[in-house]
Amino acid sequence: VTQERRKVAVIGGGVTGLTAAYYLQRIAQQNNLPVDVVLIEASLRLGGKIQTLRKDGFIVERGPESFLDYKNSVRDLAQDLGIEQQLVPNNDGRTFVAVGSNLHPIPNLLAFGGALDVSSFITSGLFSLSGKLRAAGDLLLPKTKEDEDEPIGDFFRRRFGKEVVENLVEPLLAGTFAGDIDHLSIKSMFPQFYQLEKQHRSLILGLKKSGEALRNDHIETYQTFQNGLETLIETLASHLSPNSILKGVKVESIDRLNDGSVQIYTNNIAPIKCDAVIMTTPFNAAKEVLDHSGLLDELPKMQYATIATVTLAFKQGEAKKYKDAMNFFVSRNSDFAITTCTWCNHKWNDVAPAGYDLLRVYIGRVGDEAIVELSDSDIEKTVLQDLEKAIGLETAPVFTVVSRWKESMPQYTVGHDERMEVMKQQLHTDFPNVKLVGSSYDGISVPDCVTQGKSIADELLKEMFE
Ligand code: FAD
Repeated sequence: VTQERRKVAVIGGGVTGLTAAYYLQRIAQQNNLPVDVVLIEASLRLGGKIQTLRKDGFIVERGPESFLDYKNSVRDLAQDLGIEQQLVPNNDGRTFVAVGSNLHPIPNLLAFGGALDVSSFITSGLFSLSGKLRAAGDLLLPKTKEDEDEPIGDFFRRRFGKEVVENLVEPLLAGTFAGDIDHLSIKSMFPQFYQLEKQHRSLILGLKKSGEALRNDHIETYQTFQNGLETLIETLASHLSPNSILKGVKVESIDRLNDGSVQIYTNNIAPIKCDAVIMTTPFNAAKEVLDHSGLLDELPKMQYATIATVTLAFKQGEAKKYKDAMNFFVSRNSDFAITTCTWCNHKWNDVAPAGYDLLRVYIGRVGDEAIVELSDSDIEKTVLQDLEKAIGLETAPVFTVVSRWKESMPQYTVGHDERMEVMKQQLHTDFPNVKLVGSSYDGISVPDCVTQGKSIADELLKEMFE
């Protein structure tokens, strides 16, 4: 029996959308399924949050700069694309937290997924003696009887006390997700810690076991691509047929037609009729597109943090201090405006020509976003003051790249999983051939987005052809 040709539209050309489009094409070709794919991207470039600037021998990441590939989803994709030899792991280096105006190395004990080393915790200058004793309480405290979600801050305060949260957990999280730990959900953001308590009671003991498992799997390092993360975007795009990509086309609304198909309305081209839609835009954009259908009305808008990355290149000085440093995070108990800083040329080989240092910092987080609105030169001035205070850097940069990311970091606040369940149910009954995936839903990291893009392509083709 010959099957009817189907058309699938993927909305959004970030890593989620490109991965979905790539696997739709690939699985369809491998299984002889008659499917046409069209990818619709509002802006004139593909990649969304992933954007690499290659400049005079420097590799500057404006958005994400690396990823932790717990489930090997990026590796698998890179293998399918033939670029797995271009994956590179980060060099070893020390991580610090700035409290007051001093940098303290973080104890390995809580390096996420890392080794357990009690002595580094005991000798750490990050915590007072009473703070350390309170943290050790985790070894004895019972687990909570509640199954309910709770804020990340409450969860870790319950286990380790206030000081560990203020000087370690909050800086690491704020530096990574730019969020407010008293609203973010432990269940959605760190399901592994939520489960650790359920399974092992003590997080320290649980971490020890899972830390060993992680080391055995060799996945505790960050990775990127030799020539920057945009390599992934460029390669994905080159595998899609050029006439299947529409750039500079913004989807404004979608409607369900009587025959069960879907009509997509855009800002500048004729409506597109298709059999199914994969929406990979941030949730608020998807909500707007579905607005007139009354779908998702019950769900509140999501909150997104506004942040900026600032990358600065310096001629290398004589200073030997921090030669082995990879990055530092900043506690709210400090007088810095920046939230984290990475020595890119320590963390990666070949991101700067010999004789130069390349530093990258973040500014802005929920509740502290006005700084992102400053002019480039005011941002640069603030960052340089912080770098002088924190690491004694006094020279002027050779160049500075400021990249603002407005409302870009999704905040999975308490109850996120339940709200996503409501969303899925609603779509399933009212709009079954429209799927929502991407960083607003089931994981923010690049590997999480790749996983979602691949699984939705698989799921949709099964639904269509089985
Ligand atoms: P996006 O990249 O946001 O892509 C969505 C696309 O949809 C965009 O191109 C947009 O233009 C398009 N679009 C929106 N509305 C419409 C419309 N109506 N019609 C058509 N197109 C539309 N993750 C890590 O793993 N490691 C990191 O180090 C890391 N660092 C980060 C640093 C920053 C500054 C940011 C912002 C994020 C970082 N992340 C990191 C997270 C990760 O980069 C993102 O979650 C991921 O890239 C999002 O991919 P996506 O495809 O889901 O969404």
